[in-house]
Amino acid sequence: MRQLLVVGTMALDTVRTPFGAATEVLGGSATYFATAASFFANVNLLAVVGEDFPEAHIAFLRNRGVDLSGLERSKGKTFRWHGDYTSQLNEARTLETHLNVLESFRPQLPAHYRTPELLFLGNIDPEIQMEVLNQVTRPQIVACDTMNFWIDGKRDMLWDVLKNIDVLIINDAEARALGQDSNLVKVARVILERGPKYLIIKRGEYGVLMFHGTHVFGTLAFPLEHVLDPTGAGDTFSGGFMGYLASTGDWSDAGLRRAIIFGSVMASFTVESFSLDRLRALQYSDIEARFRAFKRLAHFEDLS
Ligand code: AMP
Repeated sequence: MRQLLVVGTMALDTVRTPFGAATEVLGGSATYFATAASFFANVNLLAVVGEDFPEAHIAFLRNRGVDLSGLERSKGKTFRWHGDYTSQLNEARTLETHLNVLESFRPQLPAHYRTPELLFLGNIDPEIQMEVLNQVTRPQIVACDTMNFWIDGKRDMLWDVLKNIDVLIINDAEARALGQDSNLVKVARVILERGPKYLIIKRGEYGVLMFHGTHVFGTLAFPLEHVLDPTGAGDTFSGGFMGYLASTGDWSDAGLRRAIIFGSVMASFTVESFSLDRLRALQYSDIEARFRAFKRLAHFEDLS
């Protein structure tokens, strides 16, 4: 079994959407990623939580088979994020970010974490992403996510990280902020010239675009009648994408395209509830059924 290592946040989120609200619920980039990826692969998780982080959340990940040897419990409070969404659910507005224990987190990888075949540098301080990169033997695939908080706050360090990765997975607003242009095709060229081989741009309900050299692949998001909370959709996408790649070992163009569909399938479940509630109840058969529905959705014949 290929090892998939993720570093990212484990958080207590407070979220409001037009359809409801949730206070201090389980969230964080590493949490969503690891949960989604655990349906496909062995996941090693590296993160920090504070003394106030509920034991039940840790038990949930352990029960999903996630290796938590790299989870540190530090003195202080857990990372907290507070955000909301308008009726346009595509972009979260950050109201508050409390780094708390993240501020002094210096990752120390357990010995068996140091040779992963796949590494996901989840949304977290780029200095931490770099420290993790420096502690592993170069994995076959390194993917990375970030957000405006770090693009604005630690741009130079972030570019240093991006020089060392294969796949950058960010949303359209982040891509525009990083590439400093409103046109996504231009932005993709600028970003690919400076670092990653692949750029995957998440566009919320409009789906995903993958850029590689002069090639582009695009897919829709699965149309859903009930979307409650988009929080975590991006990290869940990445978890499905990387987890699926870890399960196949196929990083050909066709393999990456299929991984994008699995990522999109997983994200389509996350948005159906607050926090990780939908993923908690998910069965692998649900994933397969939605994958098939996705295939029918996007299928068309060539010209005859
Ligand atoms: P997304 O998949 O992009 O919706 O990410 C949602 C998750 O990102 C939430 O559960 C937050 O806890 C987490 N998050 C928010 N801000 C940050 C940040 N600055 N760094 C790392 N994680 C964050």
